[in-house]
Amino acid sequence: MKYISTRGGAAPQEFCDILLGGLAPDGGLYLPESYPQVADQLQEWRGLSYAELAFRILSLFITDIPAADLKAICDKTYTAQTYRWSRDPAKAGDIVPLTTLEPDFHLLELSNGPTLAFKDMAMQLLGNLFEYVLDRRGETINILGATSGDTGSAAEYAMRGKHNVRVFMLSPEGKMSAFQRAQMYSLPDANIFNIAVRGMFDDAQDIVKAVSNDAEFKAKYKIGAVNSINWARVAAQIVYYFKGYFEATRHNAEKVAFCVPSGNFGNICAGHIARMMGLPIARLVLATNENDVLDEFFRSGIYRPRTTAETHITSSPSMDISKASNFERFIFDVVGRDAATVRQLWSKVDTGGSFSLADGPFAARLPEYGFVSGRSSHADRLATIRDIWARYGLMIDTHTADGVKVAQEHRLAGLPMIVLETAQAVKFAETIREALGRDPVRPVELEGIESLPQKVEVVDAALAQVKDIIVRHC
Ligand SMILES: *Cc1c(COP(=O)(O)O)cnc(C)c1O
Repeated sequence: MKYISTRGGAAPQEFCDILLGGLAPDGGLYLPESYPQVADQLQEWRGLSYAELAFRILSLFITDIPAADLKAICDKTYTAQTYRWSRDPAKAGDIVPLTTLEPDFHLLELSNGPTLAFKDMAMQLLGNLFEYVLDRRGETINILGATSGDTGSAAEYAMRGKHNVRVFMLSPEGKMSAFQRAQMYSLPDANIFNIAVRGMFDDAQDIVKAVSNDAEFKAKYKIGAVNSINWARVAAQIVYYFKGYFEATRHNAEKVAFCVPSGNFGNICAGHIARMMGLPIARLVLATNENDVLDEFFRSGIYRPRTTAETHITSSPSMDISKASNFERFIFDVVGRDAATVRQLWSKVDTGGSFSLADGPFAARLPEYGFVSGRSSHADRLATIRDIWARYGLMIDTHTADGVKVAQEHRLAGLPMIVLETAQAVKFAETIREALGRDPVRPVELEGIESLPQKVEVVDAALAQVKDIIVRHC
């Protein structure tokens, strides 16, 4: 399998060659040359363990790692021990257990990994793939990132203790919850460096960008990233759409709908690809919060990214995006994989503009992809958390609540709806208290993590100070 850029200006590459990089050199995103067709394999795949299913699916996309090695990586990644924080501990072996709320309405638990959010599903695989490829090549990488919560901790838990990998993670000092700080800063591993920046998330992000723009420093210190445009993350996420489908259906003639709380379009992009591969998905329901750029697109055909200043700070913060970084992959398919069209559309996006597919040649094609959408507000979130608690005695997090709210608006009789549960309630305690007047339930092993010793260096929002830390530890 070779990978091509959505902007058409990069030579086709193998999987391991794009694994450690970010954007393609022409500014586009990598996608497989074609989507493997698997409708004939569904019968054989139904009933496989998660690790085995991951191996079968990833084998179609990763053809430059020997099968036995890829199998070992999948087995090591998807264990009941790593994904043990299930609501029902007896189901931890399922990796992504399905909770049925009522006939044809389910939650797929994707947040049972070490940081209690769905990003662990892909990031844990990435950690093992990085270690494998770097060992094989005798190379090292220094991952530099900025986080306001979920991504940074998922990256640290995935990369902790891995050979040839160091993680330098910037976070805004004092802006994360005590639980989030404890999750990240209490990691004792020698290859994890937490850097708290006196400033806001954007200040931290600007420093990361400045380092990435310094070609000499970047090359000398082998700076890399693990952001959501990484193809391997999208590939890993395809697996749980298959698993969820098998759990919610009895035979392969049945169709389902998935509802996905969305921000950067990474998670639902994997659902789109699963559907393109032949998984019987009738509907992909995209849920946003008050930052409704994507809901606007699926309702109007107009994609109008917002500026950071226009982005609302909400109680489902991992969906607070103004520009959906993976969206270009979907549009590449919609425009018939014509890179020239993508270049033309993104020449507007990259200069702060917008585009419309509402009229013109692609308007008729858009509905063929099965997408519908909706948005949710803080009040909706509170009402949904209360409703699910009252009716089923289940506590859901704020992002999942956005999904449940929008899923309910798009249910069709006889079509099973699977809402992806993207985080656990304990991560968003403040909103849970507001909704339910009580603290969220917390896995026993995580009691008291706030009082563990923490390892973090505090710096000004100054490029030189961050570079100095990297230089000192390399
Ligand atoms: C990252 C994240 C999302 C959004 O996922 P995208 O892939 O960016 O669309 C939703 N919920 C939670 C809890 C997340 O951490």
